[in-house]
Amino acid sequence: MSNKKILVLPGDGIGNEVMAEVLNIIDWLSKTRSMSFDMSERLVGGTAYDKEGDSISDSTMQEALDSDAVLFGAVGGPQWDNVERNKRPEAALLRLRKELDLFANLRPAVVLDALSESSSLKLDLVKGLDILIVRELTSGVYFGQPRGISKISDTESKAIDTQVYTTSEIERVSRVAFELAKLRRNKVSSAEKSNVMETGLFWRNIVTDLHKNEYASVELEHILADNCAMQLVRYPKQFDVILTDNLFGDLLSDTAAMLTGSLGMLPSASLGPVKANGTRAAMYEPVHGSAPDIAGQSKANPLAMIMSFAMMLKYSFDMEEDSKLIEKAVQNVLLKGLRTADIKDGADKIISTKEMGVAVIEELKVLSGN
Ligand code: NAD
Repeated sequence: MSNKKILVLPGDGIGNEVMAEVLNIIDWLSKTRSMSFDMSERLVGGTAYDKEGDSISDSTMQEALDSDAVLFGAVGGPQWDNVERNKRPEAALLRLRKELDLFANLRPAVVLDALSESSSLKLDLVKGLDILIVRELTSGVYFGQPRGISKISDTESKAIDTQVYTTSEIERVSRVAFELAKLRRNKVSSAEKSNVMETGLFWRNIVTDLHKNEYASVELEHILADNCAMQLVRYPKQFDVILTDNLFGDLLSDTAAMLTGSLGMLPSASLGPVKANGTRAAMYEPVHGSAPDIAGQSKANPLAMIMSFAMMLKYSFDMEEDSKLIEKAVQNVLLKGLRTADIKDGADKIISTKEMGVAVIEELKVLSGN
C-alpha cells in the first residue's frame, strides 16, 4: 500500500478532459492493484483566475509544496489574453516551476510501433526510437540579469538577455541526466555551444569534471547544439540521453518531439531537488497546451496526460511495473487501430477522449487479468 500525496491541477480547456481520463485510471488502479494515493484537486490557470482572482492561489501553491508530486493538465485560453501579465494562466506554471525549483525537465521522444508511420522522418530512421532530453529549466538566458530593452540615443535602442550558469546549477541537472542514463542505455550527449559561448565552454568543463569524478562508467559525448539539431533529424537513434541548457533544450526537445508524430502523445516530467524526507519535488504534465480550438468537444487525445501519469509512477513513486503496464496498454490500444482525431491515419477508427480513456482501462484489465 502506498499513501503518496498527489496534487491534481487540471487547469483550462482540454486540461480538464484529459485529466478526467487519468483520474479514472487512478481509480481503477487503486481498486485493483492495492495502491492508494492521497489525492487533492485544485483550480489553476484561467479557471482559478476567474474563481479565485489569481492563476494560482497561495494555498494551492502551498499544497503543491506539501505534495509528493503534482499532476498538471494545461492552462490558457483566448478569454484570458488581456489579463495582467502576473495573473495570466501561464504565470501559474512559472510560479510552480520556480517555487518547486523544478530544474530538470525530462522530455522523452519515443516512437511507438503503431505510430511510426506518423513521423515526418522515414520509417527506418524512427522505428523503435527512444530518447530522453534532459533540459535545465530554471536558469540560463530565460532568467539571467541584466535583461531588458533600453534607449541608447534618439534613434537607437538595444535589447539584452543574459545567459548565466553557475557550477551547482550545471552539476545538479547533469547528475539527473547521468543517473537516468544508467537506467537506460548508459550514454549522455551533452549539447552546448562551447565553440562560441563562454557559458558553453563552462558547461562542457563542469560536465567533463563531474563525469570523471562521479560517472566515469557512463559514456559521455560532447556535441555542439547546432550539430545536435542536425543529428536529431539525420540519425536520431544515435542518442540515448541528451543533456542541455534551458535555451537549447527548448529547441531540441521540440525538434525531437516532432520525430514522434503528434503533440497529443508527448508526456513530460520536471524534477526538483531531493527534499528532507528523501522525495524529490516533481510535476508531470503533457507537453501540449489547453487547445481552445477543440476544448469541450471530447476530441482531445488523453494519451500524453496518461503517459505523464505513467512517468509519475516511475520517477516519483518507483512503481516501474505499473508504469510499464500503462505504457503497454497505450501501445496495445494504438495497435488495435483506435485513434483520436489528431493521430488518425487512413482506415483507423476515430474515437473520443472518453472512449480512448475507456479503451486504455479495458486494455489494462486484459494485461493484468483483472
Ligand atoms: P496547444 O498545444 O494548446 O494546441 C496546438 C494544436 O495542437 C491545436 O490545434 C490543438 O487542437 C492541438 N492539440 C494540442 N493538444 C492536443 C491533444 N491532446 N489532442 C489533440 N490535439 C491537440 O497550443 P496553442 O494552441 O499554441 O496554445 C493554446 C493555449 O494553451 C494558449 O493559451 C497557450 O498559452 C496555452 N499553452 C499552455 C501550455 C501548458 O499549460 N503547459 C503549453 C502550451 C500552450
